Amino acid sequence: MGVRAAVLREIGRPAPYAESRPLAIEQVELDPPGPGEVWVHVRAAGLCHSDLSVIDGNRPRPMPMVLGHEAAGVVEAIGPGVTGLARGDHVVAAFVPSCGHCKPCATGRPALCEPGFKANSAGTLLGGERRLHDAGGHDIHHHLGVSGFAQHAVLAANSLVRVPPGLPFAEAALFGCAVITGVGAVVNTAAMPQGASVAVVGLGGVGLAALLAARMLDAEHLVAIDMNEGKLAVARELGATATVNAASPDAAEQVRELTGGGVAYGFEMAGSARALELAYRITARGGTTVSAGLSHPQQQFSLQHLGLVAEERTLKGSYLGSCVPSRDIPRYIEWYRAGRLPVDRLLSERLRLDDINAAFDRLAAGESIRQVVEID
Ligand SMILES: [Zn+2]
Ligand SMILES: [Zn+2]
Repeated sequence: MGVRAAVLREIGRPAPYAESRPLAIEQVELDPPGPGEVWVHVRAAGLCHSDLSVIDGNRPRPMPMVLGHEAAGVVEAIGPGVTGLARGDHVVAAFVPSCGHCKPCATGRPALCEPGFKANSAGTLLGGERRLHDAGGHDIHHHLGVSGFAQHAVLAANSLVRVPPGLPFAEAALFGCAVITGVGAVVNTAAMPQGASVAVVGLGGVGLAALLAARMLDAEHLVAIDMNEGKLAVARELGATATVNAASPDAAEQVRELTGGGVAYGFEMAGSARALELAYRITARGGTTVSAGLSHPQQQFSLQHLGLVAEERTLKGSYLGSCVPSRDIPRYIEWYRAGRLPVDRLLSERLRLDDINAAFDRLAAGESIRQVVEID
């Protein structure tokens, strides 16, 4: 069946994207779902920095590709062998499909699923197939098993989590990346206890979701750090107790001053080694630094070995918020509905698929938090 989709054919086109138009809105062919797969009518898909990183070449992926990995929609058809999902179900996509059988899956860490990682790297669905083709019959790759910037998508059933039908789609989509990555980093990866001191470096959708989670856990100090004054102002509205501009040369000293020597939990949510250095420097002795940003593969980070040991520091990476999506997405939705985690505050703009290139200019300029494409 023909569906409209935003196709990236070439990485590294120059900004402004409203002019260079790296994403072409094309009519593509979508195959029916195969075994273990589901056809979803996409209703909302958020723009994430990881999409931008494919467009600008920071995170190379096989081309061509339909981008978008933070999506919500309605199940329209199920392939052979799918259980637990039915036509009409509202679903959110997780950007790592989990096979359920590999060693990480079997030990409760589906974010590290080995076949899921392999499929995501190859730009296929979990079963190794590509269900997207262009008008000439050439295959188009899937983005992280989702490819949500399209009217419809075929996904592995293992990429999907059923959500309550009353939840608006634009809000539901946020749970697929920004919320599970940011909230999961705090709740799962850091296992932050109630009332700890926290700093978040990088205030995009993921960083602000982490900030909301830390506020939910009554963080004693909640320091928000970014180079963008507009985002610092949003962080104060969302409950940050202090803000520090990362561009100021004494940013680390300011945080240590504000928190009496540093925070127990420092979060890097900006996707750069420099941000990680800052997050590590402002973590107190005995503290934990969690990094969830994705930087260019050539970026390196070095630390003082002696300090790591003698100060009993912990440094942890966090992917997909160390989440079990089928357990955590419903849990985080409950917290949202109870008013504990107001993640709708992250939704800054709604747009149509045709306006997606200009929206990536706003994302690149740091002028938005989470923009969501809405599809009828
Ligand atoms: Zn993302
Ligand atoms: Zn697995």
